[in-house]
Amino acid sequence: MDGRRLAKRVLLVAAAKVERIKSATGVTPALATVLVGDNPASITYTRMKRKRCEEVGMRPVRIEMPAGSTTEQLVEQIGRLADDPAVHGILVQHPVPKPIEKQIAFEAIPIEKDVDGVTSGTLGRTILGLPAFASCTPAGIIRLLREYNVELDGAYAAVIGRSPILGRPMASMLINAHATVTLCHSRTRSLPSIVRGADVVIAAVGKPRFVQAGWIKVGAVVIDAGYNEGNVGDVDFEGALEPASLITPVPGGVGPMTIATLIDQTVDAAALQLGLTL
Ligand code: NAP
Repeated sequence: MDGRRLAKRVLLVAAAKVERIKSATGVTPALATVLVGDNPASITYTRMKRKRCEEVGMRPVRIEMPAGSTTEQLVEQIGRLADDPAVHGILVQHPVPKPIEKQIAFEAIPIEKDVDGVTSGTLGRTILGLPAFASCTPAGIIRLLREYNVELDGAYAAVIGRSPILGRPMASMLINAHATVTLCHSRTRSLPSIVRGADVVIAAVGKPRFVQAGWIKVGAVVIDAGYNEGNVGDVDFEGALEPASLITPVPGGVGPMTIATLIDQTVDAAALQLGLTL
């Protein structure tokens, strides 16, 4: 499944929406990326996100805070962005350094600017199937599944990983699409046999080549959300190619869809805040 190709298309549509917003209001949609500390991967991710903003004609707002920042300082910074009408989306790059209480900081993002889907309000709306700027990786995965006409209604899906930004919202989105879902995690017993029964497998574990080829049912759709050092996913890609009917590569599968979804959601957030229907 070619995430790069679909992401390009999503970004083209987003760029056209940006043009419409600019000509109707004179306002340039803006995404603030907040980076705390100097984690090299986080620096790269925020740079990539700002670059994508520029490519579609949006305004990136770059906020960098020292590694020793406190939860209060981060909350204050987010509060300033929340109050700024020229900023339409706020992304706090995670992981944030340890002493910061991440969820407390996230909750300072108003739901209408929570374009990365990290607040409890957004997760609640996602679970209930209400309109929301949902967490970008699972939302991007749903777009990929739709693009490839994967039948979710009545399908059996195994989601491996239960993080608040990936596994949990993913399971909710699949349930809302009428799949039957088993949400697996590190305490799950008999994981291979659960995966063997699944029509759709979502790997979101953070362990290189964790999902083995022998776990994959013939004809299953395999989505590898993992990203590990050395461009390696959470699935044994080479081995799983044979049984899978569709599979995402790493890189070039889920990753590009995550950023494209973030950009598209920010454009939609700007339109909503400006009272425009696109
Ligand atoms: P996370 O917060 O570390 O969560 C990992 C999940 O995997 C946890 O729920 C954990 O279970 C579960 N797990 C760990 N060992 C397991 C085992 N042996 N068997 C079954 N489940 C196990 O990670 P995350 O943020 O969700 O990210 C997951 C992966 O996706 C990472 O590789 C990350 O780099 C990647 N990712 C990619 C994108 C993208 O844009 N492509 C975006 C975000 C994340 P417990 O809850 O029991 O600990």
